[in-house]
Amino acid sequence: MDVHLSTTVAEGVAFRQLIGGKAVDAGSGARIDVVSPSTGQVFASIPASDAADVDNAVKAARTAFDSGPWPKMPAVERGRLLTRLCQLVEKNGSELAALESRDTGKPLRQGRADVVATMRYYEFYGAAADKIHGTTIPFLDGYTALTLREPHGVVAGIIPWNYPLQILARVAGAALAMGNTLVVKPAEDASLTTIRMAELALEAGFPEGVFNVITGYGRDAGAALSAHPLVDYVTFTGSTGTGTAIQQAAAQNNRGVTMELGGKSPQIVFADADIEKAAPVLVNAVIQNGGQTCSAGSRILIERRIYDDLAAMLATRFSALVAGPHDADLDLGALINSKQQARVTAMVSQAEAAGAQILARGTVHKDAPSGGFYFAPALFGGVDPASALAQEEVFGPVLALFPFDGEEEAIRLANGTDYGLVAGIWTKDGGRQHRVAKRVRAGQVFVNAYGAGGGIELPFGGFKRSGHGREKGFEALYDMSATKTVVFHHE
Ligand code: ADP
Repeated sequence: MDVHLSTTVAEGVAFRQLIGGKAVDAGSGARIDVVSPSTGQVFASIPASDAADVDNAVKAARTAFDSGPWPKMPAVERGRLLTRLCQLVEKNGSELAALESRDTGKPLRQGRADVVATMRYYEFYGAAADKIHGTTIPFLDGYTALTLREPHGVVAGIIPWNYPLQILARVAGAALAMGNTLVVKPAEDASLTTIRMAELALEAGFPEGVFNVITGYGRDAGAALSAHPLVDYVTFTGSTGTGTAIQQAAAQNNRGVTMELGGKSPQIVFADADIEKAAPVLVNAVIQNGGQTCSAGSRILIERRIYDDLAAMLATRFSALVAGPHDADLDLGALINSKQQARVTAMVSQAEAAGAQILARGTVHKDAPSGGFYFAPALFGGVDPASALAQEEVFGPVLALFPFDGEEEAIRLANGTDYGLVAGIWTKDGGRQHRVAKRVRAGQVFVNAYGAGGGIELPFGGFKRSGHGREKGFEALYDMSATKTVVFHHE
């Protein structure tokens, strides 16, 4: 891959959004600067849309759903279009990885991994489109009853800035496979690959109006989209507070929602675990994407007997971590923006003031541009389980360690937050693996492994404040469709 590309891609480009198959500006002409998190410098711009632009996009999606070629297209044909999109992602992979890295600040390596996962989403849902079907139901004499899986209609997808390509792919893959049309609102901090994907969808042959992208601020374009009466279903990944606002907006029209709202995911390490094998996985689970991952393993619960040994191993690894520009491809990139940098910095200062102990810190590369939004990873011990650092999502490369005595305390601590997204369990004891996996309240549980964000085929979503509904795998196809029951009376 060309390193030069990742530093110069999209330089000076005034991007346009895609509505009804046409590249358009916001009606007002307003624009948002696109800032490189690695440098803090503006390098491009996107339209700042308002409610009128959102209305145009929703109407384009509505028309494409209600008439035109899309509603008549057989499932196998929809699947072939998704497969074609997968091929176009592969063909344009270098550019997409470079664009994603420059736009979000993530290391180029992560941008490339995101492209591979994106291809896999379109491949999976392309192949799945014609494999979801209804059932027949034993009913009264003289009747035949059956169910059909039908698309909701117009799906609004509100996408966060941490994994734009991947999260778009999991939304678009499942929604389009089931025959919905889409209006996607990417985050104002990371919209570029979403615009590019909508262009590729047109190239793949999706009919006009099936895949629309509207860019702009959440409070303007996002709020208008989630409250629009012609939207049939809303899917959102992002922060808990924004999820509440979006659900309230969708509730005005009594629309269904899928909410993926982050976590404070625990990894439980028992004394019999292979900690040599666990250590790199434990570290990666919180530094991947700079910790800006909803499924980040941000709490490690360690059986007291091995606490000091494992803490020392993790400290050695943390001290060696280096953050730097996306194109230098170090352990971590920059955080997404200055607001996030200030928030993570404040949470770390508060934790220190509250008596938590920093066991190790990584570094920011000495040549990293001074305007970039860097943060040196921090490993904390002695954290009060009731403190903010133990309870709140940091969304940065910050890991908190907690000792425990016995299985009961481990489960109590693991379940002791308002979140319930992912959990890791490290033990060789088979009975314990099953017991703990059943009692931990999390949408995904990994045993002797941890897959922050991984596994396209694995249903994913939360309990408690982490949200509701399931994405990924076949389950997402059910979320992206509704059952219609048809009853025939034939005497
Ligand atoms: P952050 O707090 O880091 O900005 P959010 O969860 O608020 O992250 O953002 C995720 C997505 O939600 C973005 O696309 C953003 O524009 C959008 N968004 C933010 N506020 C609203 C809102 N009130 N209504 C709809 N979408 C919103």
